Amino acid sequence: MRLSTKLVLVTLGLVIVPLVLLSASLILLRVYRPRALRTDYGQEDTNIMNINVIRRFDALMSQLEQEMEKRPAESLLDPAVLAGMNESLLADKAYLLGYQEECYFNGADSGSNEDVLSYIRSQEGFEDRSKLYFAGLSNPYLIGCRRFEAGSEEASLYLVLDVSGSLPSVTRIIFLITISVLALAGGSIIMIGWMRLKFARPMKQLQTAARSIAEGNLDFELVPESDDEFGELMGTFEEMRQRLKMNAEERLRYEQDSKVLISNISHDLKTPITAIKGYVEGIRDGVASSPEKQRKYLTTIYNKADDMDRLVDQLAFYSLVDTNRVPYHFTKIPVRAYFDDCRDELAPELEAQEFDLIYENTVAEDVLMIGDPEQLHRVVSNIVSNSVKYRSRTAERGRIRLSVRQEAGMILAEMEDNGIGIDPKDLAHIFDRFYRSDTSRSAATGGNGIGLSIVKKIVEDHSGRIWAESRPGEGTKLTVELRVYEESDHE
Ligand code: ADP
Repeated sequence: MRLSTKLVLVTLGLVIVPLVLLSASLILLRVYRPRALRTDYGQEDTNIMNINVIRRFDALMSQLEQEMEKRPAESLLDPAVLAGMNESLLADKAYLLGYQEECYFNGADSGSNEDVLSYIRSQEGFEDRSKLYFAGLSNPYLIGCRRFEAGSEEASLYLVLDVSGSLPSVTRIIFLITISVLALAGGSIIMIGWMRLKFARPMKQLQTAARSIAEGNLDFELVPESDDEFGELMGTFEEMRQRLKMNAEERLRYEQDSKVLISNISHDLKTPITAIKGYVEGIRDGVASSPEKQRKYLTTIYNKADDMDRLVDQLAFYSLVDTNRVPYHFTKIPVRAYFDDCRDELAPELEAQEFDLIYENTVAEDVLMIGDPEQLHRVVSNIVSNSVKYRSRTAERGRIRLSVRQEAGMILAEMEDNGIGIDPKDLAHIFDRFYRSDTSRSAATGGNGIGLSIVKKIVEDHSGRIWAESRPGEGTKLTVELRVYEESDHE
């Protein structure tokens, strides 16, 4: 069953249940009330619904009877006497009528009680001490009769009590019920309309949104229109959509990156393989005739194989980085000694590549940092190998300045070269994976764009930071910032 149908049913139920209960109580009232009126008050007329009024009337009647008993019966034929008795009744919306064949006293306030007079004249149902209900032309009345003997004549006094306002008649009750039913029905219609607006509309929006997501369409926006639970749900839904969209875009980017990586790798592997094949053919076909030439060829073949080895190594490591599975072995590292060792290791390699290494280390001997020596070494060698890779074609010798210093609880390791530099438009992206500047792409050395992304990941896994500054044509400076180890860090 649809929600809107349920809402209609619930609202109808809200009207129908009270109506059924009301009808049941009315039926009960109609069955038991006349019985109670009859047994307790001797009242046959079931139109009289208000027992308090009957009590009031009974009290007035007995008061009248006492008055009649106090006086000689003849005096009751005197209108002046009746007028005196009538006085106190008027305050109670009651009055007296004196009858002896004709009406000899009419105590009605306004005097326009023709309907009551003609009802009494018909004498229908009137006898001594009778108590009758009369609907009247404008008002309903309770009329009591008291007969008396004056000499040989018989006369009657009637006590007329105006019960309008205190006796809700059946028609009036029906009218009230009709009004209540109409009010309930009207209220329900307004309720249904309001509920449709409040619930059905946002539900519909959510349904459409869910369907769109199921169909793979994430290009829409859900704007919460209220701050109730539906608004919150819509907000959460919108958050979910944005995340799904981000994931989808990320996946797409990843797939594209992977394609780029595969094409780069095949290119990067193809280049040394082609060279190796060429040199091997040269040796086989006797092009490298002298032992000198042969050694040169073999050295080149070795270097190319070494390039491939490094590339494969980097790819294997990249897959670890990509899946967050880098096996770190953190230890306390003496900063000064560590970078001294790096210098010692790098110096001969750089010398062979015709690079000058300028090394400065101002960190005190006992300063420690927490890190994985092997992975930090990877950071340094990746940065240095980029400096070699992107060396200036104009400068005679390359230059790398490795400077290490301590600043406010941080170790700053700067690696600066005099290479080709990085275009400002590329600078912001060099740490993105697979990002290669146009220069890098066209360079013979061509990289694969993962070196610096690995470097960044390792530095960040050490809770450090890395950034680059560069001036095209002048050189590049990469700075790695790592935290100094304080004893208190691990207390
Ligand atoms: P690649 O394998 O292409 O070298 P990296 O992630 O190591 O990938 O570097 C990303 C890009 O940053 C490179 O393509 C290059 O354009 C630029 N770059 C990095 N280091 C230097 C540097 N020392 N001098 C000039 N450009 C550099």
